[in-house]
Amino acid sequence: MATTNDLVTSRPGIKNGDGGTTISPSIYKEPAPIVDKDNPLESMMQRFDRAAEILQLEPGIYQYLKTPVKSVIVSIPIQMDDGSIQVFDGYRVIHNDILGPSKGGIRYAPDVNLDEVKALAAWMTWKCAVVDIPFGGAKGGVRCDPRKLTMQQIEKITRRFTANMLDVFGPNRDIPAPDVNTNEQIMAWILDTYSMHTHRTEPGVVTGKPLVLGGSLGRREATGRGVMHSALRGMDKIGLKPKNATVAVEGFGNVGSISAELLHEQGAKIIGISDISGAYHNPNGIDIAAAIKWSETHNFLLEGFPGGEKITNEELLTLNCDVLVPAAREDRITKRNAHNIQAKLIVEGANGPTTAGADPILESKGVLVVPDILANAGGVTVSYFEWVQNRGGYHWTLDVVNERLATTMNAAFDRVYDTSLKHKISLRLAAYVLAIDKVARVLRLRGIYG
Ligand code: NAD
Repeated sequence: MATTNDLVTSRPGIKNGDGGTTISPSIYKEPAPIVDKDNPLESMMQRFDRAAEILQLEPGIYQYLKTPVKSVIVSIPIQMDDGSIQVFDGYRVIHNDILGPSKGGIRYAPDVNLDEVKALAAWMTWKCAVVDIPFGGAKGGVRCDPRKLTMQQIEKITRRFTANMLDVFGPNRDIPAPDVNTNEQIMAWILDTYSMHTHRTEPGVVTGKPLVLGGSLGRREATGRGVMHSALRGMDKIGLKPKNATVAVEGFGNVGSISAELLHEQGAKIIGISDISGAYHNPNGIDIAAAIKWSETHNFLLEGFPGGEKITNEELLTLNCDVLVPAAREDRITKRNAHNIQAKLIVEGANGPTTAGADPILESKGVLVVPDILANAGGVTVSYFEWVQNRGGYHWTLDVVNERLATTMNAAFDRVYDTSLKHKISLRLAAYVLAIDKVARVLRLRGIYG
């Protein structure tokens, strides 16, 4: 008898997604006033429009960059265990591929829809451009509730979805990765199905796959490691030494726990951590190794952690600390609580944790915000390294991966910082300006075919 799958409760750290979140369209000529709609899609599009204005983007290029180059919808019929047939919808959107093959995760969730996937795909375009890797942006998903499916059913869905996307996926065309509710095993099934059809093993068709199948060393920690590099750079800009820094981290999954661990290793004092089950505060410093162990042995929750005083998740965000790392989910710092933030530096491990409405409040308070499309781009950067290793048929050592990640993240931070000085804008807007400018310049050089 088949059992329900463990994808939705997968261990923190085995999800190796490139990351992504949501946007929605607005009008360039009449940028919407900054409002707090608690909608990451809206928030992102407001920032895109402001960056487009700063760049004085031609209306044609603006339209081009807002529109995905390809949106594919497929139906996925699956025979269920009782013999009945159920049909699922599968999506893949390539937002842009002029910098190189498109890159982005695949999510399995009941609320997956075309608009969301389009938005997430655009976000990937900007993220890849910020860190200067030769990828475009894409995203995909299957509308299903993995909690109600067996592993066998998920395997069938994955294989049929891949078979339907044979003309879309490809190591030189479009490269998926894990995202919400997908993991290494699902990447292995995509790799296998694609390879069966092309009659050769194609490890480069997906990233975030198991190490033994061509995954990269360091991929699991890559996003948290990138957050750590961004945090160190940010601390330097505000004249804060890691050994004097106090840090609060929201979210204790892959990104949050690894960011906390690595910042602790750098000498920072982690005084607050949280997850969905609650938040913990210890002004003397939390023992992060003990917290990770506690979570691993308590169903991946911090609940009952004895190493700190229990506070609310909202209190964690406004703790008296130097650095805040939101690494849980979107829309956590809004115009409702931005006034109360005490940190001098925010490093966005999560996608879209700060709404557009909170941006001007944080700016007026002088808080330096390292934006998501820069701070959490370590994941997609090491996905790129994984793909490069697959193409070369060679494994890099962990030291090489980590060293190249540091170089990429630090160079991206410096470019964003210089852009912010040049235009006298926030790091967030600077990251968008840099990304949009890069894609627009390549588009002008390549020209419009047809
Ligand atoms: P995860 O599922 O491993 O961890 C999420 C954590 O957030 C869990 O500890 C969960 O309990 C906690 N959480 C959820 N709601 C919370 C709340 N209201 N308050 C406090 N904690 C809460 O996910 P992850 O992979 O670590 O991703 C976290 C964020 O980082 C997401 O926004 C994701 O899109 C983004 N991201 C992840 C990667 C990656 O490589 N994993 C890459 C780029 C961006």
